[in-house]
Amino acid sequence: MTLTKQMLADRKTTLSEPVEEQRTITGKPVADGVVMGTAVVLTTLPDSLADNSIGNGVKHTLADFQRAVRLTSEQLREFQQRIREGIAEPISDIFASHLAILDDDAFTGKIQSGIESGAAVQDAIRGVTKEYVSIFAHSTHLRFREKVDDLNDIARRLLANLAHQADAGPNTDYHGRILITPMLFPSDMLRLVAQRAEGIILTTGGVTAHISVLAQSLEMPMVFASAELMEDISTGTALLMDANHGTVYTNPGTDILARYGCLLETRGKALTPDGVIRPQTLTSDGRRIRLLTAIGLVSEAATARKLGAEGVGLYRSEMPFLIHNGFPSEDEQHTIYRKVIEEMEGREIIFRTLDLGGDKIPEYFLAAEESNPFLGLRGMRFAYRHREIFSTQVRALLRAAHDRPLKVMFPLVSSVDSFRHARELVEAAIRDLKATNVPHQSRPELGAMIELPCAIGIADALAEEADFLSIGSNDLVQHMLAVDRTNEQVAEWYVPWHPSILRAIRAVVEAARHHHKPLSLCGDMAQDPALIPVLIGIGITALTVPPRRILRVQHLIQQIDAAAVDEIARKVLAASTLAEISGLLGIPHGFPGYGPPASTLDTNAPGDLATSKQA
Ligand code: PEP
Ligand code: MG
Repeated sequence: MTLTKQMLADRKTTLSEPVEEQRTITGKPVADGVVMGTAVVLTTLPDSLADNSIGNGVKHTLADFQRAVRLTSEQLREFQQRIREGIAEPISDIFASHLAILDDDAFTGKIQSGIESGAAVQDAIRGVTKEYVSIFAHSTHLRFREKVDDLNDIARRLLANLAHQADAGPNTDYHGRILITPMLFPSDMLRLVAQRAEGIILTTGGVTAHISVLAQSLEMPMVFASAELMEDISTGTALLMDANHGTVYTNPGTDILARYGCLLETRGKALTPDGVIRPQTLTSDGRRIRLLTAIGLVSEAATARKLGAEGVGLYRSEMPFLIHNGFPSEDEQHTIYRKVIEEMEGREIIFRTLDLGGDKIPEYFLAAEESNPFLGLRGMRFAYRHREIFSTQVRALLRAAHDRPLKVMFPLVSSVDSFRHARELVEAAIRDLKATNVPHQSRPELGAMIELPCAIGIADALAEEADFLSIGSNDLVQHMLAVDRTNEQVAEWYVPWHPSILRAIRAVVEAARHHHKPLSLCGDMAQDPALIPVLIGIGITALTVPPRRILRVQHLIQQIDAAAVDEIARKVLAASTLAEISGLLGIPHGFPGYGPPASTLDTNAPGDLATSKQA
């Protein structure tokens, strides 16, 4: 019996007992997954830097410090090695930056001088660390602020090793436990994965890019919820954590368990090689729908393959750029892309070229401040402004696929001219590789992402020009409705089933059909159970969803009667109001703007102002 099944069974048998307080806590999703477990509340990490008791009262020598440095370095190298073996290469940078600090004479040398001048070893470590932390903590640059975590992590490890505590911590098995912790260092996360924790709830310290990418990559479900929200949860409380939405349920009742039962089981089953995923997805009346996946890291490719993806419909190539310490070189990129190709074992992969800008700015890149970044230098505009970055990436892709078919698509294509220009740059890269006798793919298929309203009117021309199309529904909805997808204030206006959007998708389907070009749809609409039927009715035959949603989407499609949804889609496409469409699709919806009345906001405003004035 799986753990989750066991817990469900346990929960059912104890229903006659007094029910503990049930609460729903709304936090922020960090890394996907739905898990159950009992809470383990860590007030401070076992060997935290803040714990002044570590090693105090023991007199250490300079030789002890040097031994602790060596030991720390060995441990980090081991972590690095382990993570390299199991996970994508870019993540190993986390430990590279730790090792760089340890090798830095300005850090360890300074501690050493302190010890030589008579300071206690522990005090010297804490003192120098605090000195550097205070410099970096005040930097406005996030990248430097993350250095604070690295420094604290190193100091904590040095102190523990000094006191021979490195591996002396309890060899806890966190199987069936969800950890609630105020802070987390990358190396702690690795350790928690090794100790089989079900999930993590982070309560302070915010979520750094390192931590969220690492959690996703390690498949560790994770939620961020403030300390106040979590304050009355004690060790032993039963929790169900929906990290896909950032929700945590305490002492979940049968209704919640029933709602999540299928998802809980999916997580375990889907990863077993003999899982229930079928190689092909058919509607109940036999229409074939291709299920592709969206990934951003090499490590996700293996998961995608295991979870039954027919291919990668969207490889977000900016992900390695966002977690690196600088723009990855052509060779580094080549290694990454090659690994993705090899992991997918011949299945189709659509590499999207860099989609930087908007909310995706690498921390090492000093981009000009933009008041409206989503309408700023992003997607292909960024690529054209920084041609060398774009061309380097194209060369890496062409080289990585020298002996395989290659599909490359461009994000946020706004005109046929823009598409042609991108193609010219690809052709130039091919000529260049040929001239220097570098093995490369000379006939890549090139696709356009349809995710701007201006691409809809020219969908037919783009379909003629490109080898394939992909609808990016997140951006398409955001731009067609002029609703920032990250702005909670206007969330109720983000209505993907707006008649204009569904008609736009239909127009793209017709254009692709007319020119016999493959078309897929990615973004959140592709995994929305309320919208998948109408998308199929509109004529979408390939959906790109995150690896962990494949099974659920497949189950849903198997229940769909294609002929029936064709009929619904016909009616939906003829409808012009939100009310009609919500009725046809069974989506409860009021007219946007009937949410919180303006007066509520007005009433709150003076209070907020008064508070801020006093502060
Ligand atoms: C989209 O816009 O739907 C898409 C898949 O791209 P992004 O990476 O911007 O979500
Ligand atoms: Mg997009």
